[in-house]
Amino acid sequence: MQTVDVVVIGAGPAGTVAASYLKKQGYHVTILEKEKFPRFQIGESLLPCCMEHLEECGLLEAVKARNFQKKTGAAFVRGEKKCEFFFEEQFTKGWTWTWQVKRADFDNTLAEAAKAKGVNVHFECEVLEVECSADKQLIVYKDVNGTIHQIECQFIIDSSGYGRVLPRLFDLSKPSAFSPRGAVFSHLEDKKRTEKAGNNIFVHSFDDNKSWIWAIPFSDGSTSVGIVGNREKIIELAANGGEKYKKFIREFDDLQGRFTQADFKFEPRHILGYSIGVKKMFGEGFVLSGNSTEFLDPIFSSGVTFATASGLLSAKMTHKHLQGETVNWEKDYENVIQKGIDVFRSYVTGWYNGDFQTIVFASNIEKSIKYQICSVLAGYVWDEANPFVKKHDSILQTLAKVIRMDEKDFKSSTVF
Ligand code: FAD
Repeated sequence: MQTVDVVVIGAGPAGTVAASYLKKQGYHVTILEKEKFPRFQIGESLLPCCMEHLEECGLLEAVKARNFQKKTGAAFVRGEKKCEFFFEEQFTKGWTWTWQVKRADFDNTLAEAAKAKGVNVHFECEVLEVECSADKQLIVYKDVNGTIHQIECQFIIDSSGYGRVLPRLFDLSKPSAFSPRGAVFSHLEDKKRTEKAGNNIFVHSFDDNKSWIWAIPFSDGSTSVGIVGNREKIIELAANGGEKYKKFIREFDDLQGRFTQADFKFEPRHILGYSIGVKKMFGEGFVLSGNSTEFLDPIFSSGVTFATASGLLSAKMTHKHLQGETVNWEKDYENVIQKGIDVFRSYVTGWYNGDFQTIVFASNIEKSIKYQICSVLAGYVWDEANPFVKKHDSILQTLAKVIRMDEKDFKSSTVF
């Protein structure tokens, strides 16, 4: 029987950040990862806030060396309207840039860097069963040859992402309140990338804010392009090898012919029903991090940042626990992560009901307001000094209402 201090399930951003932090504190850490790396993953546009997490656990330099596409902001477009945010112009003092990455390369870089620091990373090892208790945890996993192994540890961090290993085994998942949406996507050759389009993510809202397209440029000249919409729409677009998705991307007006002739680098993939909640983020002998907790929606590119934030915090709490200190998991972990998720929940709601668009496409949006919203878009959702964080549950709705009233008054005053 193998024995280590901590087992981390999954080698995505949450798992590698958690494992690297704990290794730095001197623990024996093993990551069990189901897939062979590099492997495809969706979630390619990062937020500046995640740079802090990568730096603190010692993974930033390895990523820097890969020369991924620098991301300095984000642009939102709807028909003729466009609003660009630049992370240099934000309320919270923090990172002003990050990257757009092919996740196969990014995740592999993180896993290799964690390995170089002394974390044992076992690829192609799928966790099947887990038994938890107050002081000893048992994990059963299957390697690539089908051989079953057991490993014992003091604590488990579940970073299994969409695999949701412990939420599945311990019945911890709960449905999301968001409508079941999906996405269909591929990588495209992007020879017509213009100076005007820039290298930052573009988000095109259409269908009365029910659907949107992302364009995420990479440093090798290709671009990730995806469509998000309700379930039925995505199933239709993805059918027959993504025939309708391809046609849509080639012909969609707001993309101005950028991909009319472009080659698709792989057959479009699709994913459905990714929004999911969790009843509890911790239990005896384990904690959940990253997408094993709650995942809302891809619209604001917050997934990887939540993965690194929760990966890091879960590792810090695990360290305290292993030092024999009492950890208040609910207050010091779950409530902190939940707070950030809840801020984004308000913005995701505001995106699909149109309040967010009303604000950012308003002609006279004040600079200070834009800077405060920009900090949320940069991932600084724990900065309570920012009114757009502190009053997240009412501020978008109220502001959008005022803007709509102003626009109505303006229209009626120009008529009479
Ligand atoms: P993952 O990256 O999923 O890693 C989990 C790992 O666990 C995987 O490697 C998996 O193989 C492994 N695993 C699973 N089961 C087992 C098992 N039984 N045993 C061992 N290992 C296991 N986020 C962004 O930040 N930016 C974006 O632009 C963005 N776009 C998105 C677009 C869409 C359409 C969707 C659905 C999501 C998007 N996201 C985005 C979210 C992003 O994909 C996730 O939030 C992020 O990958 C979570 O990281 P993680 O480390 O928690 O999990």
